[in-house]
This record gives sequence, structure tokens and C-alpha cells, in this order.
Amino acid sequence: MKNLLSIVIPAYCEDRNIALIHKELTNVLKKIKTQYEIIFVDDGSKDDTWDEILKLYNQDKHIKGLRFTKNFGHQYALLAGMNYAKGQAVITLDADLQHPPEIITQLLQKWKEGFKIVNTQRIDNTKLSYFKKTSSTLFYKLFSFLSGVQLADGMADFRLLDRKVIDELLKFNEAGLFIRGLIQWSGFPSINIQYTPNTRQIGESKYDLTKMIRLALSAITSFSIIPLRLGIIIGIITSLLAFLELLFVIFTKMFSYDAVPGWASAVGVLSFLFGIMFILIGLLGEYIGQIFMQVQNRPKYIINETAGYDKEDKQ
Ligand code: UDP
Ligand code: MG
Repeated sequence: MKNLLSIVIPAYCEDRNIALIHKELTNVLKKIKTQYEIIFVDDGSKDDTWDEILKLYNQDKHIKGLRFTKNFGHQYALLAGMNYAKGQAVITLDADLQHPPEIITQLLQKWKEGFKIVNTQRIDNTKLSYFKKTSSTLFYKLFSFLSGVQLADGMADFRLLDRKVIDELLKFNEAGLFIRGLIQWSGFPSINIQYTPNTRQIGESKYDLTKMIRLALSAITSFSIIPLRLGIIIGIITSLLAFLELLFVIFTKMFSYDAVPGWASAVGVLSFLFGIMFILIGLLGEYIGQIFMQVQNRPKYIINETAGYDKEDKQ
């Protein structure tokens, strides 16, 4: 539809945030005077998130809802929302009000200026936990270094995408989906807007450590094979060192009488090398796992219920 703006909101156990974000969004969107739809994607919540979405759906004709059968993950909830979005521009943001809806005006402004991707970049403030800040800075540095895809620090999934970018993105069929990386990789003209995140008022972060590690691993292994080459580099360095050590041993054996065989150091070196070997084997496992999932070619998510969609709309 022409001039339609789609807002996609993934939500996992956010029942107390749904009505709040809807209210804030509606305030902003009314002022913009554009046609819009708000698509809530319930990522298999265990609380009343879906009931809250249905409640809004019955009150407001702009609301649409998708409900997953189980928790498939934030990235797939975003993908599903983008799949159903009909707008010429699609804005994705979190359900927990950490992404201030007021920024939408600026996002649209930049889009009108011709940018196909309008990213937002979090200005790190004291409201964010030290762990979240440092782990994310480290991750972005490592990701950019390994993949060659430059991701600015503090870039979350709060952005505007033009229809063109969405259509391209939907053609990807990646097992380890890392939307941030793919969008940057696509090469469309983009710009970053800075914003100060709010603190999460209600509920706790749904990105626990396991989910963060899973996302980081699939981001890196789906974008770079450099970690695999690590094995070769470590192998060359260690064999070089071993060769030097051997020379040293022969030398001491030939020229001194007190060459005591030190088994403790030998065991130390051995266990160190074993450690490295296990890391490398684990790394191989990660890549093979990615290939395995890609080969299975399972659907990325399964939708259980919808609100505001007919069967024909199903993609
Ligand atoms: N989310 C989701 N599925 C998940 C985890 C999170 O859809 O498995 C949603 C969550 O409801 C929120 C957004 O993704 O709207 C970001 O999650 P959260 O705020 O918990 O992450 P943080 O801001 O702490 O990184
Ligand atoms: Mg959050």
C-alpha cells in the first residue's frame, strides 16, 4: 500500500508493556499523520502477551498480531513481522520502551531524504548495566574485525528499512540469522541516528546470557571463516616453538651435563595444547552445526495464531 508505515514489535513475555508501547506509539504516529500498521509478534510468550495484543486488536484497527507456537527468538520474530509488513517503510523496535518512539519522526525524515536504511545508535549512558555495555562493545569490535562488515557500537534492532531493503532481506534464507549484519552487508545507503535509551521499566531483560552467546556465535560463524583459520595460525606458531625448543634441547644435551628432564613443564605444554585443540574442535562444531541447520532447511518459525490476517495473507 502506498505511503503505509509498518511498525514491527517483537515481544516475549511483555504483557505489561504492550498497552504502554501502544499508547506511546499512537501519540507519536497520530502527529505524523501517516497511514500506519503496528504488527506485534508474540515470540511464544508464557504470560498474557497474546491476550494483551488481542485486546488492542479489538480496539484499534491499526493493530495486527502474529503468535509463534514457541519461543523462536527475537531475530525470527523480527523476520516474521517484516514478512507480513505491507508498508513502504518498516520500523522495528523493542516492546519494552527502551527504544523511544519519538525518534520515529527523525527516522522518517532521513528516509524522505533518500536513505534506504536508517539505523539508530545507542548513546551509552549510565542507565545501562556495565556488563551490557562492555560485552556489546567487545562483540561489535570482534564482529567487525572478523567479518569486514562495519557495525557501529550500540546498534540494536531499532531502525527504519525501505521496502526495497525488506524485499532483499526476505530473499535470504540463513540458518544463523543476524539481521543487523545482513542489513549492513546489503550495501544500501544508510545513516545512523543517535538516541539515549530508556531503562526498562517493567519486567526483566529477555536476553539472558545464553541467548546473547547464541546470537554472538551465530553472528560470527555466519559472517566469517577467519576463526577456522585460527587453527592453522596456532598450528604454525606452536610447531615453530616446538622446533626451537627441540634445537635448545639438543644444544643443552650436547654442551652441558645437567640437562634435567622436566616432566611438569611437558605436561603443562601438553594440556595447554589440548585446550587449544578442544577450542578449535568446538569451533568446527559450530560451523558444522550451521551447515547442518541450513541443510535441514526447516522453517525459521511457525505461526500458531494471527490477528488481522486472512489465510491468503500468509506468506
Ligand atoms: N524478545 C523476543 N524473543 C526473545 C527475547 C526477546 O522477541 O527470545 C524481544 C523482547 O520482548 C524485546 C526485544 O526482543 O521486545 C529485546 O529484548 P530485551 O529488551 O529483553 O533485550 P535487551 O534490551 O535487554 O537487550
Ligand atoms: Mg530491552
